[in-house]
Amino acid sequence: MAIDEQQNDRGANHLAEHWAEQLAVAAKTLARWCYERGVDDRVLRCDTTVLWRAVDQAIGRPTTPAHLERPLWERTAALLRQRRDWDREHHVTPPPTSPCPPCAVAPELCPVHAHPRCRACSGRLHATALAEGFDTHPCCDSGTATAPTDSVHDLLQVLGAMPLAGAG
Ligand SMILES: [Zn+2]
Ligand SMILES: [Zn+2]
Repeated sequence: MAIDEQQNDRGANHLAEHWAEQLAVAAKTLARWCYERGVDDRVLRCDTTVLWRAVDQAIGRPTTPAHLERPLWERTAALLRQRRDWDREHHVTPPPTSPCPPCAVAPELCPVHAHPRCRACSGRLHATALAEGFDTHPCCDSGTATAPTDSVHDLLQVLGAMPLAGAG
């Protein structure tokens, strides 16, 4: 019984060490990714969905169990602060700080700046278009209705002109 418990303890310690290493590596990768995008330690205040997306993009797979997500981000934020201090001391100009961390990570998830998208081109739709009840840009809307007929008409004209050109 005592031996079993000892073994369990050793197993748990080993696992803890393993995660500590993984956490350090993941935090470094994540901090570099954030730094390059001008995402500073305010990212800590972001929604969990935004944080997941950042981990996804920076590391590409879930590297830490759920209970270590917070420590991972706290470590990342600490690295970002360290880097900011280092930059200042060495007169290095960092990449421009993003005015909005969620937008820098996943614009569609930003609670402040997220806009509905155009149904036709998936570009951002302006508030006025929405207020008028459109779900496409005015240009996208008219474009889909008339373009095919026009181009078929043009093609027929070109084809019709060809024998004349050849005869002349
Ligand atoms: Zn935003
Ligand atoms: Zn459009």
